[in-house]
Amino acid sequence: MSEVRVRFAPSPTGAPHVGNIRTALFDYLWARHTGGKFILRIEDTDQAREVENGLDLILGSLRYLGLNWDEGPDIGGPYGPYRQSDRLQLYTQYTQELIDKGAAYYCYCTPERLEEMRKEQLARGESTRYDRRCRFLTPAERAAREREGLPRVVRLAVPLDGETTLHDFIHGSLTIANRDVDDQVLLKSDGFPTYHLAVVVDDHLMKISHVLRGDDWIPSFPKHVLLYQAFGWEIPPHGHVPNVLGPDKKKLSKRHGATSVIQFRDEGYLSEAMLNFLALLGWAYDDKTELFTREQLIELFTLDKIGRAPAVFDRNKLDWMNGVYIRELSDAQLAERLLPFMMGAGLVTDLGTVQRMVPLFRERLKKLSDIVSLADFLLVQDLEYDPHLLVGPKMDKATTLTALRTAQEVLESFSSFEDETRIEAELRTASDRLSLKYAQFFGALRVAVTGRTVSPPLMGSIRLLGREKTLWRIDWAIHALETS
Ligand code: GLU
Repeated sequence: MSEVRVRFAPSPTGAPHVGNIRTALFDYLWARHTGGKFILRIEDTDQAREVENGLDLILGSLRYLGLNWDEGPDIGGPYGPYRQSDRLQLYTQYTQELIDKGAAYYCYCTPERLEEMRKEQLARGESTRYDRRCRFLTPAERAAREREGLPRVVRLAVPLDGETTLHDFIHGSLTIANRDVDDQVLLKSDGFPTYHLAVVVDDHLMKISHVLRGDDWIPSFPKHVLLYQAFGWEIPPHGHVPNVLGPDKKKLSKRHGATSVIQFRDEGYLSEAMLNFLALLGWAYDDKTELFTREQLIELFTLDKIGRAPAVFDRNKLDWMNGVYIRELSDAQLAERLLPFMMGAGLVTDLGTVQRMVPLFRERLKKLSDIVSLADFLLVQDLEYDPHLLVGPKMDKATTLTALRTAQEVLESFSSFEDETRIEAELRTASDRLSLKYAQFFGALRVAVTGRTVSPPLMGSIRLLGREKTLWRIDWAIHALETS
């Protein structure tokens, strides 16, 4: 096989969707599996849909997952430029080549005429398409329009009869009648190419060996094949990768929650979990293995194992996988991943504090951002809660106050809170002395120390909080309850 060169060709129109990045992942894995090149090309020819930070969102999504590209707009490469808006000259040149060959023509129809035509076709129950009026202008008619300086586009002159066979290494082959293909616009009146022209020219010039893209592009495939034929170029193998659907089998959209990879990064999904999860959206090694490291994916990924059926985005599975990968990290590694989330919430600035907290929380983390709501009680100066929360089930104000004062005495007798086991034993003895159930006694203490009725292990929390802060909080609780 000659060198594998695959490209991810996003448009900077927003935060890339998980389906797009999944396709990028397939490209990356195929390039790494074969020792080929993974190329990033920015398809920014539809300037109206472009968003300002579009490029950053694309680069950020790829970097999060470690999908490093070998050629691209930021690093260049032998087939640049890698941004389509920097390649306009090429599209004009190649369009001219087609015009010269008689495979494309200028069209001067106004948007109003096209709209009128569309409406009439719809009214007649026909599929909408260009009626080819300008394709058959006489030289004199054409010259007249040129003299008038009418705005013009360039259209592909699709063969009027015959058939075209499309080969797709995922979906198989399909033969279509050429008469069913529209005379696609290739170059717009503003000199920008359409996607169809640009993708074919660039895939050819960049020597792309395999084209992988979402199966929503299948309807455009005939136009591309006809374009390759018009140029007389060899068509690289194409595979249309299954769409990603929500659990209700509808196209994954905002209704289903997060849909962009950046959102998952920001919620604290580990990149190794996301990578593993995305790889299984449309690809399977066998019918049982679910956990794969990056290295395993690179080793095992082959194009023949990409499926045809739509892939369903199962968030529970992602959560499960994220949990698996979180538990595989050492305390020190996990602390490093958690630090940015804690810093982002303004809770800590140093790794040491996070490291001390990790053992207490690691089993409770579904995603990294959970750490903020789990651990904030340890780090804030003052807790905010309704003092009535201190009075648990089957307790009253007086017994709660007694329980808290007793706990306070016990805790005061320790000069350090490091020895959790001894402290807990003494607190239990005190609870027995008061003839309280542990749930009652520790329940009051839990609210006083953490401000909530459900918390990570209480003794661990007390140890992390330290003597001074713990005693201060109990003091505050007693006072708040007395005056409530
Ligand atoms: N710019 C197109 C998109 O973002 C690329 C499709 C393709 O990979 O050819 O969907």
